[in-house]
This record gives sequence, C-alpha cells and structure tokens, in this order.
Amino acid sequence: MSIDKSITAASGRRRFLKTAVSTALVGVAAQAGLEFAIPTTLHAQSNLTPDAALQELVAGNQRFAANQLKSIEHDLTVLKERTVDKQEPFAAVLSCADSRVPVELIFDQTIGHIFVTRIAGNMVTPEIIASLEYGVAVLGVEVLLVLGHSACGAVKAAMKADAVPGQISSLYPHLRQAVEQSGGDVDKAIAANAKIQADLLRTSSPVIREAVKAGKLRVESGVYDLATGKVTLS
Ligand SMILES: [Zn+2]
Repeated sequence: MSIDKSITAASGRRRFLKTAVSTALVGVAAQAGLEFAIPTTLHAQSNLTPDAALQELVAGNQRFAANQLKSIEHDLTVLKERTVDKQEPFAAVLSCADSRVPVELIFDQTIGHIFVTRIAGNMVTPEIIASLEYGVAVLGVEVLLVLGHSACGAVKAAMKADAVPGQISSLYPHLRQAVEQSGGDVDKAIAANAKIQADLLRTSSPVIREAVKAGKLRVESGVYDLATGKVTLS
C-alpha cells in the first residue's frame, strides 16, 4: 500500500467511524457490564492483508520521520466513542519500555489501531506471549512487530552485567543470546535481540505459529533509531 493509499484508507476509516458512532453506542448499552468478556471467535478487525498491515506501519513511520503526522487529524471524540466496547487494532507491537519510543506516535497511529506490549528490552516472557496471543487470536491483528531501539539501556546493562538494584538483573538472561552474538557491539546486540525475540514468538507460541502458517499474520522485527525517527525492519 502506498502512502497515499494509506492516507486515503485512513480517511475512509474516519468517515466510517463517524457513521458508526450511533451503532457503537447502542452496542455499548447492550453490552453494559460485559466489558471484560473475551470474545470466543476470531473476527476480522480490518480488511488489511498481513503485507498491507506491515506497509501501514512503514508508511506511518515515514510520515512520523518526515514530521507529517496524519493521526492527529482524527476526531478523538469519535474514536473514543467508537472504541468504548471494542478495539480494532491491525497491528501488535512488542516494544521497549523506554520513554523515547512512543509506539503509536512513531507509527503515526491513533486510538484503537495498535495493540502494544512494552517491557524493558522488548523481550518475550510468558505474560508478553499471552498478551500478544490475545492480540492475534481474539483481536485478529495482521502484523506483529518486535521493535528494538538505538541506545537501549536494557541491552547496554545486560552487556555490562554490573550489579544493579532490585530485580533489574532478571532482565539479563533474556538478552544473553543477543549479547553473545554482538561481539561487544551495542547496535548489533539491539538488532539481534529484536530478531531473537521475534523468532521466539514464532516458535514458542502455537497460536502465533498457526496464524503465520495460515497466512493471517506476519511476525517481523526492526529497530527504531532515536536520532532519525526511522524504523529499519530486519
Ligand atoms: Zn530499551
């Protein structure tokens, strides 16, 4: 999908959202008290193919890097109303907790578009897998991106492996393989870690693996550059 088409799609989505508000509000009333119920069936949340979903993220990041954000033009009041009783993300992102990596912003997306899990070092844990499986199996996201970033403190700390307060060192084992592959180069460790965690998701979760096999999902990895604002896919 080109950037232009992506923008057109976004405009179309806004129009749809505006006409769907009254319907959504009826739905909210009907489902009052059921907001924590988990749907039991897979349902298409968007019409994007996995390839198009990835391209939507890429195009959004290109807009962000060029300081040409479109997501801020969305009607937030409508979006909030539309998303009270359900969410329709087309992508899931596993990102670092770092404050310099605001996921929705760097992909130029707004409320309800990206299902985000964040943890220092963007690493896979059982709870992260569970969350992302929800995104895949219940919400039907079409792309899952593991996003590392330049100057990641968690990766740097794991490379030094110095004594640290509290439970911070519990992060290190998850990053060990990337550190070992890096030859002491932080950037290499960061890129390797994103790839390793994406591989881990593909292999350790039957839910994710089956969705990939069925052509419903792409699992990718990449690194966000704090200086340029650009995401480079692995
Ligand atoms: Zn980080």
